[in-house]
Amino acid sequence: MENPLLIYNTHSRCKEVFKPLHEGHVGMYVCGPTVYGDGHLGHARSAITFDIVYRYLQHLGYKVRYVRNITDVGHLEHDADEGEDKISKKARLEQKEPMEVAQYYTNRYRDAMRALNCLPPSIEPQASGHIIDQIAYVKRIFDAGYAYESEGSVYFDVMKYSKDHNYGCLSGRNVDELLETTRALDGQQEKHNACDFALWKKAQPEHIMRWPSPWSDGFPGWHLECSTMSEKYLGDTFDIHGGGLDLLFPHHECEIAQSVAAQGHEAVHYWMHNNMITIDGKKMGKSYNNFITLNEFFTGSHEKLTKAYAPMTIRFFILQAHYRSTLDFSNDALQAAEKGLERLAEAQARLERIKPGAETTVNAKNLRQRCEEAMCDDFNTPIVISHLFDAAHDINIILDGKASITKEDLEELKRTFHEFTSDVLGLNISAQGGSTDNEAYKKAIDLLLSIRQQAKANKDWATSDKIRNELAALGFSVKDTKDGFEWSL
Ligand code: ZN
Repeated sequence: MENPLLIYNTHSRCKEVFKPLHEGHVGMYVCGPTVYGDGHLGHARSAITFDIVYRYLQHLGYKVRYVRNITDVGHLEHDADEGEDKISKKARLEQKEPMEVAQYYTNRYRDAMRALNCLPPSIEPQASGHIIDQIAYVKRIFDAGYAYESEGSVYFDVMKYSKDHNYGCLSGRNVDELLETTRALDGQQEKHNACDFALWKKAQPEHIMRWPSPWSDGFPGWHLECSTMSEKYLGDTFDIHGGGLDLLFPHHECEIAQSVAAQGHEAVHYWMHNNMITIDGKKMGKSYNNFITLNEFFTGSHEKLTKAYAPMTIRFFILQAHYRSTLDFSNDALQAAEKGLERLAEAQARLERIKPGAETTVNAKNLRQRCEEAMCDDFNTPIVISHLFDAAHDINIILDGKASITKEDLEELKRTFHEFTSDVLGLNISAQGGSTDNEAYKKAIDLLLSIRQQAKANKDWATSDKIRNELAALGFSVKDTKDGFEWSL
């Protein structure tokens, strides 16, 4: 490999040459979704960012164990006035088991990830399935002297820890500053200091999701699950920890403090953070209440959307920006992404029609090298895309007879173009509908819709609705007509 892989490490704040801990193997942990609502564009960006890292490490020949958790213990985001966890609240309102709510949104999240062509992680552990491990982890922090119990809850002693270690090393914040700016909230009088964080919370009587522990019937603090599950599945030191920039503080800072307290050293070699998506200049997110869910994008059912956008358009839109830059949502930008993706799909189809010539007069030869250089420079997907556009331009002029390419170079161009669009960027171009050459794909949709017609004739509304809704979620619009159906993407 000529190009070393450079990764921007948020911890050291510079690009570093990637050296895995174990030759040929990489362990990667990414903070996953909290499953009490539908995923939004910010979730897609984080999932796609680390899907690219996962894909490219495999492209380089590494065996990767990719762990992404599911936060299904919904203690994280309390309603400020009620103090009830969101999953419990939803379960109560909808008369469901909390686990039913968590499972429902987990399924929806996985469906959306599949539509965005994100590869599934190697392990997807759930916080609720690792309570025993988390209790054991709290005990280790206790034994090291960095935790205290207060009224049935257990807190991490940030003041004590910061005397021995560097709390704030990841985010660049310091404890004095935090003490000044952190307000004690109601119900937090049991903490010694406002910046201490919960390792275990005693459950209030109305709290449904609770487990027995040495301290109280309660539930683990949110930061704990990631320290516990990453150690369990990747070992006490591992290569890459990823997540959205909004998790840098306090979540990842607290993870570092927990692992240093419990293990005596940091667990993570490279911290990677994807930047945020903005909408009207503000961060898009649940806490800002300005988010558009992925299903709303796929169906066009949000007031800010002028149309539905296919999952591949969303993926391409996200990859057109470097993961460490902010990305501003707009309908114009999405429609430009749609056109760009179509150009690549057309180029891929045209590539098949090229007849080789006696010599190569285009710059197609070093496409692989240029794409690899860009990917090795901290996963620079926008540069890869611009190289692929250059190749699309070459393909057009060859077909127009203004340039030529030898058989050997043509084969290499086809391989490289396909590898970087499909395998590395994960752009499922044929699913976009841009590649009109793909008859099998059209036949498969027709087949699905004829099964739906049959279901309707049999009054099997469940099946017929399921097919229509799931196709709609993938960006298809289906119309019933006098003599059958019509569909478009
Ligand atoms: Zn996490």
